[in-house]
Amino acid sequence: MKTLIQKANVLIEALPYIRNFYGKTFVIKYGGAAMVEEKLKEAFAEDIVLLNFIGIKPVIVHGGGPKINKIMEKMGKKPTFVQGQRFTDKETIDIVEMVLGGLVNKQIVSLINSHGGRAIGISGKDGNLIKARKKVIKKLSYETGSPEIIDLGLVGEISKINPKILLSVERDGFIPVIAPISSGKKNETLNINADYVAGTIANSLKAEKLILLTDVEGIKDKKKKLIPTLDNKKIKSLISKGVISGGMLPKVQACQSALKGGVKKTHIIDGRISHSLLLEIFTEKGIGTEIVK
Ligand code: ADP
Ligand code: MG
Repeated sequence: MKTLIQKANVLIEALPYIRNFYGKTFVIKYGGAAMVEEKLKEAFAEDIVLLNFIGIKPVIVHGGGPKINKIMEKMGKKPTFVQGQRFTDKETIDIVEMVLGGLVNKQIVSLINSHGGRAIGISGKDGNLIKARKKVIKKLSYETGSPEIIDLGLVGEISKINPKILLSVERDGFIPVIAPISSGKKNETLNINADYVAGTIANSLKAEKLILLTDVEGIKDKKKKLIPTLDNKKIKSLISKGVISGGMLPKVQACQSALKGGVKKTHIIDGRISHSLLLEIFTEKGIGTEIVK
């Protein structure tokens, strides 16, 4: 009897959150271990379906880097990186589109559906969800001191989000699963960092929350200790000191862009923890790093 009452208590503790979040949109960036390990994949799908059945509208944006490398290698093509970013030529973008928009996207859709959800997979091309332009990165040359352009190939930056397709599938109770690919001005296919896609979509949907799953506890300080809360000012200082760098940069920028658009809260959490989404959403303290304005 005691354990039964405890179970009831756990459910009742979630009531204020459920009441608060009913009908609200959560944008979730899915990637890393949570997308690879079998047990974590199942737990993620359960969390998404549970959120959906209690009236929350999840929108999922996924990555898929490691899978792209694997398939490229199988096809006898070597992934190349420029300044830590994937160089994407014509042949590579075809593989990226096949893997992200096909294989990975449909695996996530079917995973969620196997738990009773109704997911629908789309890429940024569908319904003109994402319009992008070729990303141009400038860096000062060590030799001449003047700016030089780093060519990443078919990598895009978002110029416009048209959320109509998302509103329409949400209205009918489907869970959108988005592959971060889009078309550029010349109709060329462009690959976009999934963190940016998640942030910009959260912004355009005025989502309640943006949650980014990754393979670290959250944002860490100089001494590698987790920072529970960060605001714009602190982020600026941590970036200038080089404490926030690499793959964490697009994540914090995504959170800042979302907050600018009116998203209430943004979180970077550890996807290696089973049911990390539920722990973040339904507990007072939450896990990982919360980024506020
Ligand atoms: P994902 O696949 O989830 O996008 P990334 O590898 O792109 O993951 O980004 C996460 C990485 O960012 C971490 O593994 C870590 O190496 C790096 N990173 C840079 N600065 C920090 C920081 N201050 N705190 C935590 N991770 C950081
Ligand atoms: Mg990344």
